[in-house]
Amino acid sequence: MSDSKIAKEVSNRRTFAIISHPDAGKTTITEKVLLFGQAIQKAGTVKGKKSGQHAKSDWMEMEKERGISVTTSVMQFPYGGRLVNLLDTPGHADFSEDTYRTLTAVDSCLMVIDAAKGVEERTIKLMEVTRLRDTPILTFMNKLDRDTRDPVELMDEVEDVLKIACAPVTWPIGMGKSFKGVYHLLRDEVVLYRTGQGHTIQDTQVIAGLDNPELDKVLGGYAAELRDEIDLVKGASNEFDHELFMAGELTPVFFGTALGNFGVDHMLDGLVEWAPSPLPRETDTRTVQPTEDGFSGFVFKIQANMDPQHRDRVAFMRIVSGKYQQGMKARHVRIGKEVRFSDALTFMAGDREHADEAFAGDIIGLHNHGTIQLGDTFTSGESMKFTGIPNFAPELFRRIRLKDPLKTKQLQKGLIQLSEEGAVQLFRPLRNNDLIVGAVGVLQFDVVVARLKSEYKVDAVYEPINVATARWVTSDDPRKLDEFERKANDNLALDGGDRLAYIAPTMVNLQLAQERHPDILFHKTREH
Ligand code: GDP
Repeated sequence: MSDSKIAKEVSNRRTFAIISHPDAGKTTITEKVLLFGQAIQKAGTVKGKKSGQHAKSDWMEMEKERGISVTTSVMQFPYGGRLVNLLDTPGHADFSEDTYRTLTAVDSCLMVIDAAKGVEERTIKLMEVTRLRDTPILTFMNKLDRDTRDPVELMDEVEDVLKIACAPVTWPIGMGKSFKGVYHLLRDEVVLYRTGQGHTIQDTQVIAGLDNPELDKVLGGYAAELRDEIDLVKGASNEFDHELFMAGELTPVFFGTALGNFGVDHMLDGLVEWAPSPLPRETDTRTVQPTEDGFSGFVFKIQANMDPQHRDRVAFMRIVSGKYQQGMKARHVRIGKEVRFSDALTFMAGDREHADEAFAGDIIGLHNHGTIQLGDTFTSGESMKFTGIPNFAPELFRRIRLKDPLKTKQLQKGLIQLSEEGAVQLFRPLRNNDLIVGAVGVLQFDVVVARLKSEYKVDAVYEPINVATARWVTSDDPRKLDEFERKANDNLALDGGDRLAYIAPTMVNLQLAQERHPDILFHKTREH
């Protein structure tokens, strides 16, 4: 294949994920995005993962739920002459470390904010993860068909809390019952909103130019008010700047209603025009360009048990360079073997389910019987390892205990394997034989106990434990680290990969430890 064909495929692609707080409208936006991508005829067929009982549901239920989310794990669709990959970020009860790691596999993110609520806690956390790679962010202020907060105030909050400059691209005209549409600042167009078109692509009325007398006819007294407001907005807010956007320092802001299917297309237009095509990635030896001929990719997520009959796992790999073809061979770098991709899952637009080629920015799913771990690199032969696919410090902790104490070895083995796969994290305190599991989302605990039982034949139960957070610790000075190990022994543990971690009972305790030991580095993430 000629380099120019690869270059063309790469420049045509956009790979992104949605970050939002539960209920902000991620599922609804996804539906509308697919509607625009014409992947589905009528919006409303993407099943949401609702129900508050979800977290308590049993293993089979969980698998069913997960089965649904697998088919929507990666969605590819054409839009505006480009090919867009949308990676799902588990959000409600199935929020987990996978959500964080998925963000390391995309080139841009859409932040969805409920305009009645503003910046919420989950969004803050997810934004923090996007900062690891300074990922470009687009913003959609949703639910303008309801009474929302003042748009200026919303943008101020984003700037203050998330430390990213806002550049409004569209501006809302009214809100709630009197929501009339938006003014597109860059196109100098008023786009009028009509209700009752949520399930179809809106047949919109566009008025060119803010000074257009047509506007007075349609908006009446509002028109003059709008002109004044836009003057103020232009004077007081940032202009869109592509360089700052690419650096993750400025976000273009769009207003609309996902439910009313209004404004989502403006956001998509911005995405395909401004968001980066698949970016180069770092390895331990060099930077890999997406247009290189040689194939490479890394595993960012492993999903277990899509089919309860087959204890199978699917490893999701992001392609970084070259071309994937069904049946091709690649080198599994960590184990130093050549493997054949015979029955990989692809997530291609429309009916091309078994499309037989894929390029940088695309995702493929590899059936995995335990030989693939998180962060694994596959290449056409080169020995290198992609970096930047870390573990994240867990936020929830429990002690795990056996019902039958004779099976300690199996339990340890199971937990280490599950932690290598990324299902959960394991911490073994230096001072006792406790086994502590750490997770980002509560469902991870249920998954682990169920899998321990079915795959390792051990019955385990949880007990509460007084741990607030964990940090991986290192030091440039080995003597200081030794000293720290002695002094802080009670709070130290080894993780599943035998890395040293500090286990803090409270955030204050962590802060004090950091102050007392300035030569020790406390890390929130850990590279594989
Ligand atoms: P998710 O949890 O972020 O995936 O949020 P959903 O897409 O499931 O939306 C949460 C709730 O908000 C649902 O009841 C949606 O129907 C509703 N919703 C989503 N977008 C809008 C909107 O633009 N306007 C209104 N009024 N409701 C919305």
